Amino acid sequence: MTNEFPELPYAYDALEPYIDEETMHVHHDKHHKAYFEKFTTAIKNSELKDKTVKEILSDLNSIPSEIKTAVVNNGGGYYNHSFFWEILSKDKPFDENTEIGKDIINKFESFDKFKEQFSNAAATQFGSGWAWLVLDNESKELEIIKTSNQDSPISKNKTPLIGIDVWEHAYYLKYQNQRPKYIEAFFNVINWEKVNELFSQAKH
Ligand code: MN
Repeated sequence: MTNEFPELPYAYDALEPYIDEETMHVHHDKHHKAYFEKFTTAIKNSELKDKTVKEILSDLNSIPSEIKTAVVNNGGGYYNHSFFWEILSKDKPFDENTEIGKDIINKFESFDKFKEQFSNAAATQFGSGWAWLVLDNESKELEIIKTSNQDSPISKNKTPLIGIDVWEHAYYLKYQNQRPKYIEAFFNVINWEKVNELFSQAKH
């Protein structure tokens, strides 16, 4: 099968206490799975049926208009969450001597300024959506962007390096209405080793 639903790459409680086990269960087993199933249903009788979700989202003009909304929303939800699990870990801290570390400090002046800008983007995304650190594929520059709903950076010719899901389902069980607390906690679970790997691949 071209598109598969990924298992969580670690235990459900692996990100405790920053992201709680119950949220991980609901988020992965219910929300993510629902996006995956609706996406596969949407494309199964279309010309897109043998394409990967990445190929489809990288070329939105290729999506037949009658399934476009379903594919953008559910394909985006499927892709973005598959990405999200991969860049989380509790024991891969930021290292300013890595390639991404150097580029972040070069671009944002310091790690703290980067964190402030990223956190601000995540806090001010109105309603459901995501904030991202991306590499623009044209300019090869790092950027912080926000997207609404399940829109994905790969549809804008940008490579995602870090993404924070700020839909309420991502944090409400533990943090209720306090999105800034969730954003602060998120910084303890970024897998900087993986982010560096993604950056190195995209940059060269
Ligand atoms: Mn989510």
